[in-house]
Amino acid sequence: MDKLKMLYGELQARGLKLTKQRSAIIKMLNKSRVPLTAEEIFLRIRETNDNTSLATVYRNLKTLVTAGLVVKTGLLEEKVQYRLASKPHSHDLICLGCHKVFELTQCPLEHLCEFIGQREGFTVTEHRIELYGYCQECGSQGKKKK
Ligand SMILES: [Zn+2]
Ligand SMILES: [Zn+2]
Repeated sequence: MDKLKMLYGELQARGLKLTKQRSAIIKMLNKSRVPLTAEEIFLRIRETNDNTSLATVYRNLKTLVTAGLVVKTGLLEEKVQYRLASKPHSHDLICLGCHKVFELTQCPLEHLCEFIGQREGFTVTEHRIELYGYCQECGSQGKKKK
């Protein structure tokens, strides 16, 4: 709950009103362990509150992205997903089958960055990795069946 309050505070600090729609979007993204598409957010909000439309969700997502609270994820434009910008850093696992983005919560580069710092004297402050492949559901398409 505190996390939500913090996010709402951040929203208001950026001069945005905390509307029912915006708080619903933030709540859904905060609850979800994986990034969501606008449609998924819309469907989830509709379960608890029918006063929304996909267009409204899109419009509010755009506002939240501009405000820097939400980030778009994935390189595959056909299926843009959204997640909270404040979530701890993670890397994307992008499925080439269904185009869903999964999150790799453990950073495989943490030790490498430390190593580079010590070995090369170069301080790595940022890095990006995106991994492409097939999720469990699409797995059989990625590799030939045994
Ligand atoms: Zn898949
Ligand atoms: Zn990382």
